Amino acid sequence: MSAASTAFNVNRVKRQLEVWLGKENVSDAEVDKINYSRDAWPLRLLRLGRLIIEAKPDLIVWPQTVEQIQRIVKLANQESIPIIPVSGAGGVAGGILATTGGIIVDVKKMNRVLFLDEESFTVTVEPGILGYELEEYLEARGYTTGHLPSSIYSSALGGFAAARSAGVLSSKYGKIEDMITGLEVVLPTGELLRTKAVPRSSMGPDLKQLFIGSEGTYGIITELTLRIAPSPEETQFASFLFPDLHSGMNAVKQVFRQDLKPALIRLYDENETRFVLSRFKPPSDGACVLNFIYRATKDFVRLEKRTVTKICLEGGAEDLGPGPSKHWWNNRFDLYYPSSMNMGPGMLYDVLDVASSYANLEKMYWEMRKAIEAFGVGTMSHFSHFYPDGGNIYVIFVGHANSPEEVETKYQQIWDAGLEAAHRAGGTLSHQHGVGLLKAPWMPIEHGETGFALLQAIKQYLDPNNIMNPGKLGFGNETSKFPKEGASQ
Ligand SMILES: Cc1cc2nc3c(=O)[nH]c(=O)nc-3n(C[C@H](O)[C@H](O)[C@H](O)COP(=O)(O)OP(=O)(O)OC[C@H]3O[C@@H](n4cnc5c(N)ncnc54)[C@H](O)[C@@H]3O)c2cc1C
Repeated sequence: MSAASTAFNVNRVKRQLEVWLGKENVSDAEVDKINYSRDAWPLRLLRLGRLIIEAKPDLIVWPQTVEQIQRIVKLANQESIPIIPVSGAGGVAGGILATTGGIIVDVKKMNRVLFLDEESFTVTVEPGILGYELEEYLEARGYTTGHLPSSIYSSALGGFAAARSAGVLSSKYGKIEDMITGLEVVLPTGELLRTKAVPRSSMGPDLKQLFIGSEGTYGIITELTLRIAPSPEETQFASFLFPDLHSGMNAVKQVFRQDLKPALIRLYDENETRFVLSRFKPPSDGACVLNFIYRATKDFVRLEKRTVTKICLEGGAEDLGPGPSKHWWNNRFDLYYPSSMNMGPGMLYDVLDVASSYANLEKMYWEMRKAIEAFGVGTMSHFSHFYPDGGNIYVIFVGHANSPEEVETKYQQIWDAGLEAAHRAGGTLSHQHGVGLLKAPWMPIEHGETGFALLQAIKQYLDPNNIMNPGKLGFGNETSKFPKEGASQ
């Protein structure tokens, strides 16, 4: 599949877009192009920190209606101009990088709540509404989506859906793909596709799930209907210290076997436990903290707390009270806003977010640690999204290299070794952060040759000119082509 052409007459297209959208909603200013040349992908931020400017779009537009998006996409399709949808620009895998130039379609001005259906317990929104804006709207009316990722202040509903995001309370409320009941999408031809917003259906395959996780490669999401839940009557916190990871993991499985679903279940490995408990008490070697948050009616919280406490104590844990869990909840955004991730020259860091069934989860953790730490970097990990059948691992690595070139080489080697280990252990290579450019070369490995060929065939059918977010998800011929250093576009 060849990439859309970047050789288009920018001035002519800009003038046309200005007529449709208004001058204030179209930009080719250098400052905007630089601003949109990155998301929150650490590798891109590391390069930006060295003033390497690359992957610049030719134009940025801020449409306000679905009709405007249809016009933009039709024009782009006619002229083979790459289109890159953006919602919050808070993705961490390079999903919005314009590696072949083109037009950034930022939907942030489409941020309205369209309809709150209090009878059906759903809300219909535009894709540019930020996570916290929607939560504030719902909270004022006694509801929540339950989708509370750490990026709630920087990411929007369109991006959550496009990258299959997970909120920190996913054990109770599910991931974004569990919440969405209906979607509207502008296809690469400019046609509009609407799926019915219904609780369940058996009328063939679920079309909306094709677009959830498609990261802008199959179309632009312009409207979403989501399930909502009542605001919790009661919220309580609990923390336990287990002698080792294995006993903590066993307790988590027991909680699900009792048919309970605490809103948050978060198990830290020994390295992160030392960090988490630094203000509380020094843990013994190998000890692991397990945090819970209960959010439900008062009666249900009482029951959940009593049963979970019994399980943990019988599993050999020490009850630490609510302290560490509550402290994490109250301070969970401190690391990110303002970002403290720019660590200076020579430092490298990132996070691998994988998942598997319980049968493989612990093995996967140990194998990934071994593979990553072989490069002389430190790791600390937590398991922050648990389900009845398994969970995720969030492996953070931090290290140092002697030159910028070595940072990049080592960064890539660590990712390759970590994902290889996760794949060998039977896990999925991303639980919540998506693919973007970072994991694009891994798509055929994740889905198998036949599975990936099917996804490519769907792409070819929907987008024969390959205009929609070229190169992402491994579609197109620039699969692993993150621009070479200094090759600004
Ligand atoms: C500080 C911080 C904390 C984070 N914490 C979490 C977390 O707790 N859980 C989690 O899951 N993720 C987390 N992330 C990652 C990020 O929030 C998610 O990947 C999120 O889904 C991205 O949403 P966005 O609006 O920022 O998307 P963007 O970065 O704008 O886009 C992401 C991808 O989706 C595509 N896209 C965007 N909008 C549309 C649309 N309307 N239609 C079609 N495609 C579109 C883009 O082209 C791109 O490929 C975190 C990121 C940061 C920076």
